[in-house]
Amino acid sequence: MDYEVIVVGGGPVGMWLAAELALARVSVCVIERLEEPIRQSRALTLHPRMLEMFDMRGLKERFMKRGRPIRTGHFSMLNTRLDFSVLDSSSNYTLFIPQVITEQVIEEHALKLGVVVHRGMEVVSMREQEQGVEVVSVCASGAQANVSVMTAAYVVGADGAGSIVRKQAGIAFPGTDTTLTAVLADVELANPPENGVHSEYSERGGVMIAPVSPDIYRVILTTPRLINVPKDVPVTLEEVRTELRDLLGTDLGVTNPRWLSRFGNATRQAQTYRKGRILLAGDAAHIHFPAGGQGMNVGLQEAANLGWKLAGVIRGWAPDTLLNSYHDERYPVNTQFLRNTEVQTRLLDFTPAVLAHRQLHEEWFRHPEINRSMAEQISALDVCYPAAGNIPQHPLNGKRFADFELQLPDGVTSYAYDLLHEGRFVLLHLAQDPKVSNEFRHISLSHISYVEAVAEELPVGWRGVHTVFIRPDGYIAWAISVEQTDIASVIKDGIVTLI
Ligand SMILES: Cc1cc2nc3c(=O)[nH]c(=O)nc-3n(C[C@H](O)[C@H](O)[C@H](O)COP(=O)(O)OP(=O)(O)OC[C@H]3O[C@@H](n4cnc5c(N)ncnc54)[C@H](O)[C@@H]3O)c2cc1C
Repeated sequence: MDYEVIVVGGGPVGMWLAAELALARVSVCVIERLEEPIRQSRALTLHPRMLEMFDMRGLKERFMKRGRPIRTGHFSMLNTRLDFSVLDSSSNYTLFIPQVITEQVIEEHALKLGVVVHRGMEVVSMREQEQGVEVVSVCASGAQANVSVMTAAYVVGADGAGSIVRKQAGIAFPGTDTTLTAVLADVELANPPENGVHSEYSERGGVMIAPVSPDIYRVILTTPRLINVPKDVPVTLEEVRTELRDLLGTDLGVTNPRWLSRFGNATRQAQTYRKGRILLAGDAAHIHFPAGGQGMNVGLQEAANLGWKLAGVIRGWAPDTLLNSYHDERYPVNTQFLRNTEVQTRLLDFTPAVLAHRQLHEEWFRHPEINRSMAEQISALDVCYPAAGNIPQHPLNGKRFADFELQLPDGVTSYAYDLLHEGRFVLLHLAQDPKVSNEFRHISLSHISYVEAVAEELPVGWRGVHTVFIRPDGYIAWAISVEQTDIASVIKDGIVTLI
């Protein structure tokens, strides 16, 4: 085998998955057809849950330095924006940061961890064998047919919407085609709106304007004139100018377009995220209208879900069946996510009936509970996974692990997320129970860290927790209450059960 894992596609998701694997000492390469990273940024947002995950790897500050936190998000360009500041998270905001920069930070991190990146190579075919997968690529410049064959125990297709990996594996991609399009224009504005993010929606159409960098703004337009224009019709600056004038009474002095593009609402999801030794992640596994700025965030989160499982199977501390839980956990989450983007798309219309619906939604979104619930959905803070059936029940099982301050035995104050920097499970013992301490203090498993700590202030729902087992992707595998009997053997069973 040339590598333990080959990741096809060096976009944000493929590169993040490769980094997670390399952190777990898996030998991994990325095959990317582009010789240079792309210069246009589709995504502009990092949402709270992804910022939390970057925090768990000690990377959040690198993104914060290069982005701009915004307290609000949007749902279908409604005039009532979602208030993220009420979220129960140390990252209760959206970070505006161009995808190009997000990709740069992730790639730097991946390279530092030892990921091998083969650029300028396009995967053209694949064949699964008993012990691995053979991947055939050609030099993408095509000057001379330079064919390369590599093998790995597993291949992950993170090669975007048109995924060759998905097609070669024969994985169906059911869903619906584009029925409407919108326009994206990254431009300079001589007279930009005063507030950071500006959006308006009426029977004449919708416009959203957000800063991309000090001199570039992103203008998103959805209007009765534009909505039925096919996706492949080039966008002109004049078109943007006309629509802005019509919607705002001014074209804001729009000039110097950096990127003009049309995007649509095709919505599809791979029937399975795993077929034998082949797995899918990111846009290769699902596509949708980019409403609410969620697609890249969701893909990065599933890469985090897959990374430790694949590492466990390769390193031999987990059975191959653990990989099935990747599909079992992520498919329902993404089904819900695609439903959310479809609802947003349905609200992008200009008929009196839809405008009335929009108005109702705007009224509902002013209610704090609805605002919180929708903000949790868009930011992915509401994601939780079903708990294994054969461990003692606890309300925290399967929930997201939120950050909090704790004191370590040497008196040092730490943040809980710091415990996850190495991408290992954390067996966090909070009860100062000598029996448990003696039994697990010297646990010597490469994928588990044992940590004893106390906390002055525990997060909601944590009162009475004795020990908690946290997955490398920041979800609580299980928690045990102080009332539980025979705790040491319950912990042992719990570690075995999970893997
Ligand atoms: C207008 C627009 C705005 C968006 N805004 C947001 C946002 O604000 N927030 C958000 O979270 N998401 C947003 N998204 C979605 C986001 O851009 C995508 O979900 C994200 O890029 C998916 O990442 P990926 O790594 O899965 O795929 P991609 O970014 O598509 O990367 C796939 C990579 O695979 C490579 N590749 C493809 N085929 C091969 C092959 N055969 N061999 C080798 N390499 C190959 C490609 O060159 C590419 O580099 C937006 C999308 C659009 C269209």
